[in-house]
Amino acid sequence: MIESREALASQAESDVMACIGCNDCMLACPLPQAKLVTIAELNSAVHLPVIANPRVADFVMACTQCRQCVPACPADLSRADMVLFNKMKVEDRVPNFALMLQVGARVLPSGWTLDALAERVAAVPLFASAERTDLRALLLKATLRQLAPGEILCKESEFYDRLCVVLGGALEQSIRGPGGRKVPILVLGESSFFGEMAVMSDQPEPYTAQAMAPTLVLELPKAAVHRLMSTSAAFKATMDELYRRRALWTYARTPSVLNALPEQAIGELLEKADLRTLKAGEAILREGATPTDAYLVRTGFLRVSRRVTPQAMPGQPGVTGPRAQAEDRALVYFREGDLFGLVGLLMGEKHSPFSVTATTRSEVIRIPGAHLFQVLGRYPQARAMLEGGAQNAERVARENTFMPAPAQQGKPGTQLAMSAEVLVEKGLAAGHEVVVVDQNRCVNCQNCVDACGRRHKYSRLHLWGLQVENFLFPTACRHCDDPVCLLCSVNGIVRLPSGEI
Ligand code: SF4
Ligand code: SF4
Ligand code: SF4
Repeated sequence: MIESREALASQAESDVMACIGCNDCMLACPLPQAKLVTIAELNSAVHLPVIANPRVADFVMACTQCRQCVPACPADLSRADMVLFNKMKVEDRVPNFALMLQVGARVLPSGWTLDALAERVAAVPLFASAERTDLRALLLKATLRQLAPGEILCKESEFYDRLCVVLGGALEQSIRGPGGRKVPILVLGESSFFGEMAVMSDQPEPYTAQAMAPTLVLELPKAAVHRLMSTSAAFKATMDELYRRRALWTYARTPSVLNALPEQAIGELLEKADLRTLKAGEAILREGATPTDAYLVRTGFLRVSRRVTPQAMPGQPGVTGPRAQAEDRALVYFREGDLFGLVGLLMGEKHSPFSVTATTRSEVIRIPGAHLFQVLGRYPQARAMLEGGAQNAERVARENTFMPAPAQQGKPGTQLAMSAEVLVEKGLAAGHEVVVVDQNRCVNCQNCVDACGRRHKYSRLHLWGLQVENFLFPTACRHCDDPVCLLCSVNGIVRLPSGEI
């Protein structure tokens, strides 16, 4: 994430100076336009205030910021950032033009121009911190939609994947109550918005949104919002804070270990809590470190592991060579709703006996230990309830009987058990819908492949993929809880309102 345009400019200029011109980044780029430009043209464009070369302009505008070029660079430079810097220069010079309006299935002149709409959007408090040039770039990807009174924009529990801003009129948000009765929740007037949870964390809409009068809505696709977050640190901070508050609020109301506590105690606990988003592979607690905080898992999976030295099986010779080295062994996994760290705090532990590392993109709520004890001091009955939940979650991780892995003889990895370790580490647990073929029964007739082809015109199912003993997990869409593919900036992968990707 680049903090600002100035930071991006200086990053791009220093990358150009370090570039050795090997062209590996362009070979990794999937765009056909990559074959029509040279590294010399792209590098020299970084120093130019205006990009006049039409081939360079075409290429940078086509760049989807997929970042496939970045790992290809032997000099550890970011071609993606250099291209983004050039792309912003081209976008800045897109002339003012008349925008179209979506009315039902029709497209009509809107009466708005790009500059006039950027002016209007800048007056919406959510975008107050963003630069006008960044807003113009955002609006190049936006849709203006006019709704008739009573028209439904999106339905409760369906995926809409857009940030929607009301520019005129009003939307009513409601939920289905008992017997399908509509229960009004909130009226969104001018400059109000919804969809921040959808674009930040892939959630279905919690409410139905329906126009109460003729209503003008600006729809911003997820990738465009993320792009604005990457170029405007202030807008990113606003979105992160909004998300943090909303995520803590919803967590406090969903079933978890906190539910046993009085509402007042939950509110006080979360007052000083912060939300941390972890990338896959990022550690939040390291073995040997002094525990200072307690954590609640909001989403994702975290591996709990301990360093162990393989030991010889009885009757086998001692372990020597590379196999004798200590390795990280997974003990258990924490998942949504688990509380960890509290047991160590209660015991006054100086060294954590295990590490906790995210295996998927995960969100954890961090409660500082000192604050936790202050709150629990005021609610002694809550303390006992939380201790029980924490001990339960950490029971396996703290078992003294944990045995180090016996040293493996022969080829490793041929006897994978159908364990949590396999399901989580291979990404299967993050899936919503997973195809499993029991190969003790499958006769390889391919009828399922043909049926899939009849349904979708070509088959999305191929009978190869992850093999775990006799179970085959074909490489097919698993409808993950956190489908990062939806960030595709050309909308090559989309989700239907029903959730199908
Ligand atoms: S980030 Fe842009 S330049 Fe890099 S590979 Fe993707 S499309 Fe190509
Ligand atoms: S791969 Fe790196 S060093 Fe090679 S041309 Fe691209 S940016 Fe320059
Ligand atoms: S190939 Fe498909 S349809 Fe045929 S037996 Fe195997 S799983 Fe069933």
